[in-house]
Amino acid sequence: MKILKINHIGIAVNSIEESKNFWEGILGLSFEGSETVEEQKVTTAFFPVGESEVELLESTAPDGPVAKYIEKKGQGIQHVAFQVENIEAALAELKEKGIRLIDEKPRKGAGGAMIAFLHPKSTNGVLVELCEK
Ligand code: ZN
Repeated sequence: MKILKINHIGIAVNSIEESKNFWEGILGLSFEGSETVEEQKVTTAFFPVGESEVELLESTAPDGPVAKYIEKKGQGIQHVAFQVENIEAALAELKEKGIRLIDEKPRKGAGGAMIAFLHPKSTNGVLVELCEK
């Protein structure tokens, strides 16, 4: 498996609109627009930072994964995403090594990327996303 870089850090927020005040207004990051991923009940907004990005995540429904996360832990870092060369191969390798996968198969994420999540039980409590662009 080849990890190319940290693609983005996902941050769960109550409101992208309100959070923009800090990330764009105070830090001066550029807001690249938002996108809703219906299957995940989430709206995402990306702010490029060098070779990586900050991804803000706002739930579109009270039972979505981001809403549940905020309910349990409050707003904050929700996942770290590594960009890999070949996501199918990476998942196969991790599975063989006994890592618990949330997604056995890659699915479509924001920005046309293919993504898959690893289970925090296998990753020191960090929700890890793999993505291929
Ligand atoms: Zn993400």
